[in-house]
Amino acid sequence: MDGTEAGPRVLPADPRLRPVANRVLAGQRLSVADAAILFESHDLLGIGGLADWVNRRRNGDRVFITANQHLNPTNVCILRKTCTFCSYARTPREEGAYTMSLAEAFEEAAVVRDTPVREFHIVGGLHPRLRLSYYEDLIRGLKERHPGVEVKALTAVEIAHLARIEKLGIRETLLRLQAAGLDTMPGGGAEVFASGVRRTIAERKLAAEEWLDVHRIAHGLGIRSNCTMLYGHVETIPDRVEHLDALRRLQDETGGFLAYIPLAYHPDHNELGAQLGRTGTATTGFDDLKNLAIGRLFLDNVPHIKTHWVMNSMKVSQVALHFGVDDLEGTVRRERVYHEAGAQTPEWTTYAEIVRIVKDAGKRPVERNVRYEEVRAW
Ligand code: SF4
Repeated sequence: MDGTEAGPRVLPADPRLRPVANRVLAGQRLSVADAAILFESHDLLGIGGLADWVNRRRNGDRVFITANQHLNPTNVCILRKTCTFCSYARTPREEGAYTMSLAEAFEEAAVVRDTPVREFHIVGGLHPRLRLSYYEDLIRGLKERHPGVEVKALTAVEIAHLARIEKLGIRETLLRLQAAGLDTMPGGGAEVFASGVRRTIAERKLAAEEWLDVHRIAHGLGIRSNCTMLYGHVETIPDRVEHLDALRRLQDETGGFLAYIPLAYHPDHNELGAQLGRTGTATTGFDDLKNLAIGRLFLDNVPHIKTHWVMNSMKVSQVALHFGVDDLEGTVRRERVYHEAGAQTPEWTTYAEIVRIVKDAGKRPVERNVRYEEVRAW
């Protein structure tokens, strides 16, 4: 008995949340108005209690973990000057710019031979001259060198960039990557879909409909993916709700999203942080937990809600396991993108530590593959 039949361990005290709670308990879908009320409320424990109940009904006490390695082949990006929230990208001649040769990428991947890596997570900048063949060779080469390891690679923004420089369609680009061994896609690049926000933080990036369309096409090819929202900068509550609603509508259509990951904006070393006069951690633990819990409640058709501990910290992420979250990311080694933006967390952690964190929260660690199939349980 995991307690789910008895109802939530905590119910909202905020009277405005009672009709929302009733809908959750009746298994009804929440409206965009409900989502706005959830974001406006400060009843974090009540929201978290509902999200925890929904999660336990779906996943019991399982928490998915993975032994993964991040690989960021280049930080050179043609949008360096217009993604004002980004601390990672460089122009080709800027100090700190790097692009890995295939040999260097394979060497970096080989560093973790001592731990059981099962997934490579590959994202990077939009390099003006790295061709599709580089990524095909990278994925193929990784799979040859690490049999059994799966590849989650290239955001919708990177896919669209490669399609453009190759003068190919999105579908053809994805088919070539799939033939090379691409298993799934990460969910980055969505930021916040609202056009006003995009104009401020990512003016020349893929428009919302284009981002959604890349994922729609990928799902049609059997390439499942994750979805994200970058929060904690200039977006409003209606912007957040509109974004989540667009993700939910695409998921109704394709069923291709595996996990939703709210991404906390980090303000160090980027233009937006300077404009907003912020340094250090921009988001609060309160807002981090709320975003995760509301993701669980509103995205009733997305099976997994992931906390990215590199951004949220391991302490907040562990608590999030009781706020509707069923995925604690993985060992990660070694993360670059958020550390450039001031993340104070370690760049990776050990498998044993992840297992300990989950067990210490009274949950059961389950190692997954990229499709969330169980590999090993503890
Ligand atoms: S967010 Fe992505 S696309 Fe934008 S500048 Fe950074 S690396 Fe490039």
